[in-house]
Amino acid sequence: MQTVIGLEIHAQLQTETKLFCGCSADYFGKEPNSNTCPVCLGMPGTLPVINKRAVDYGLRAALALNCEIPERSKFDRKNYFYPDLPKGYQISQFDEPLAVNGYLKLNGEKIRIRRVHLEEDAGKLIHQSGGTSSVDLNRVGVPLIEIVTEPDLNSPKDARDFMEKLRQILRYVEVCSGDMEKGSLRCDANISLSDNEEMGTKTEVKNMNSFRAVESALRFEENRQKETLESGGKIDQVTLGWDADAEEARPMRSKEEAHDYRYFPEPDLVPLVIDEDWKERIEENLPELPREKERRWKKEYDLPDYDVGVLTEDKEIAGYFEQAVDEYDSPKEISNWIMSELFRVLKLPETELSDVEPGDFAYLVELVGEGEINDNTAKDVLERAFTESKSPKEIVEEEGLKRISDEGALTEKIEAVIEENPDAVEDFRSGNEKVLGYLIGQLMSKTEGQADPNKAREILKEKL
Ligand code: ADP
Ligand code: ZN
Ligand code: MG
Repeated sequence: MQTVIGLEIHAQLQTETKLFCGCSADYFGKEPNSNTCPVCLGMPGTLPVINKRAVDYGLRAALALNCEIPERSKFDRKNYFYPDLPKGYQISQFDEPLAVNGYLKLNGEKIRIRRVHLEEDAGKLIHQSGGTSSVDLNRVGVPLIEIVTEPDLNSPKDARDFMEKLRQILRYVEVCSGDMEKGSLRCDANISLSDNEEMGTKTEVKNMNSFRAVESALRFEENRQKETLESGGKIDQVTLGWDADAEEARPMRSKEEAHDYRYFPEPDLVPLVIDEDWKERIEENLPELPREKERRWKKEYDLPDYDVGVLTEDKEIAGYFEQAVDEYDSPKEISNWIMSELFRVLKLPETELSDVEPGDFAYLVELVGEGEINDNTAKDVLERAFTESKSPKEIVEEEGLKRISDEGALTEKIEAVIEENPDAVEDFRSGNEKVLGYLIGQLMSKTEGQADPNKAREILKEKL
């Protein structure tokens, strides 16, 4: 049996203001109903004014997803009655969306994107114990893009990978934070199973607020449909809600049952005309996308594919890597240090990438590469640089952490070791080369691991 999945994704655009009024688009965590005005509350007599930045962001996302941009698109009213929607309709785009016919490549295959359109978000109902519900309208009117894929995905894992890839792109072009836990990126998944050429009846799964949930919910529903079909049953076209705690998708009491949205053109907004100039302006300002970056890196840096994948995952990390390599031209060493130590330190509380400049990070990696400082000391310095807001250089210099490779200083310590260990020295002189290791050990503990072992060995042999 073949599984078929198509996704409908909502991504919140990171504009300053809402889609049709001057209220802040940053509603998260605010006092309920404080972030509103007569326009987004849908008061009679108010008129929407389109936020140009939101259109720009929608275009950035659409172009990054290889879409065509029709010259004309328009807004429509999608009517439904629900307490989270004070106007009684949502302004969306119905038959003339902002963008069409795109794709996103996943494991070499094109997953087609049917459309990308602009719309405003609704508010939030808060269901309380005791059977009452409250409404918070802070989110009403926040700009979203809806991205609709063709049913081109064939497994729950692919659906998850697609979402992660999409998030990466939206973050690269800086239009959406991609935070699924906070609802900035949401996904409704349609899934059906069939054992012939035709697609089966689909069900829709909602309320997944993590990538893991997308995969688990779809796996659950895939199994349920499979069991139903294999035992001769029929699939009803229903909407299901994912309950992450119970790990189960259950039919929702849907607000959209037998819906008739009665779409009609929004009379208060003129159609959007995106001319070539506008499109070009957006295209020219698009940053290098992950795919392009990966290709360029493979040419420029001699790095394993794995490293390239990990480091280009996040645009900030990718930029950090590039700047560090500018300072210290040893991509593999920089890469190793980012993937192991930098990632470890960034997981500690209150550390951020911006705490240590990439050039300062590169300086530390270079010290290790040149044998000026040992691995463990460097790891410790890096962690402290992030937590104590000092540069690695300051820490290394203030505390004299560099290896002792200066001949004079080393010779002095070595002479002391020889004097303190007459028996071992005697052993060596009577032919037991192995005690050299022991003597080096003594020197290391005397210098707290900072003696340059190769140089020390040379001097020690000479002295003996
Ligand atoms: P509807 O008219 O029921 O909303 P659409 O054709 O608009 O359905 O598709 C909505 C979403 O569902 C799209 O992402 C699409 O790829 C997906 N989809 C459509 N048919 C199927 C199917 N049989 N199985 C799985 N996904 C489907
Ligand atoms: Zn408002
Ligand atoms: Mg539809």
